[in-house]
Amino acid sequence: MPRYAYVNGRYLPHDRASVHIEDRGYQFADGVYEVVPVAAGLPIDESPHLDRLERSLAELGIAMPMSRRALELVSRELLRRNGVMNGLIYIQVTRGVAARNHAFPAQTRPALVMTSKRMDFGEQSKFKNGVAVITVPDLRWARRDIKTVNLLPNCMAKQEAAEAGAYEALQVDGDGNVTEGTSSNAWIVERSGKLVTRHLSSDILHGVTRRTILAIAAEEGVDFEERPFSVDELLAASEAFVTSATSFVTPVVRVDGKTVGDGAPGPLTLRLLAWYRDYIAGLRDRA
Ligand code: PLP
Repeated sequence: MPRYAYVNGRYLPHDRASVHIEDRGYQFADGVYEVVPVAAGLPIDESPHLDRLERSLAELGIAMPMSRRALELVSRELLRRNGVMNGLIYIQVTRGVAARNHAFPAQTRPALVMTSKRMDFGEQSKFKNGVAVITVPDLRWARRDIKTVNLLPNCMAKQEAAEAGAYEALQVDGDGNVTEGTSSNAWIVERSGKLVTRHLSSDILHGVTRRTILAIAAEEGVDFEERPFSVDELLAASEAFVTSATSFVTPVVRVDGKTVGDGAPGPLTLRLLAWYRDYIAGLRDRA
């Protein structure tokens, strides 16, 4: 089945889709993106993802390339053309094409690229066995709440994780506290049973999965706190996990080669994963 991408108004074969060499996304990472997970053919939490896209664009003074309704329609058409039932929709908006000059051009049309691909969110071994992570200094800029395509520090940290045989790198601020993963939010369960994740600020991306998990935790009566936690607390925690659109709730069982808890996915982590799957199934049933 041929794969299609949507590029500035046209559906093109994925392997022939391209953008201009003076697109500011290419030259300056002057753009933002979203990853919307898809289950049973339906985008999950599409509305908060589009809210975050709008907010990221507004923070950078880039216009929405089309209405939200139009973005939703293109998403569905891409899923249809690509036969995606489980996977993701990728949306990227840049400031557009202009002669290379750091300051913003007076007039450019934002450029829009959308793609979709299949992924298996089933009973992968990462959910059953958990994953190893490493910790690295957080080298990023001060506006991590904007989902920009400028991901070089994240790529460098993820590469370090890959070379260490780890799934993710948790980034650590100057105070020794974990900010977040390179493409995920980080969580611990204290020995007391309390769930902890860093509070929202410009230090982290405001994860949509994070938001949903907190709502589920509140509904299920799980005690939680939004605050920074240190690497020492992570190592002393009874459970740890990371969340993202594509990793759902992924148990963390080793940090820098040391075992977390008893070295197996923790019971609250697994309950949150199960509740998250129920939540997704509920969205499908209500559609
Ligand atoms: N933090 C960073 C740096 C990310 O890149 C991501 C997702 O890509 C997340 C957190 C998790 O966000 P979400 O749950 O919206 O996927």
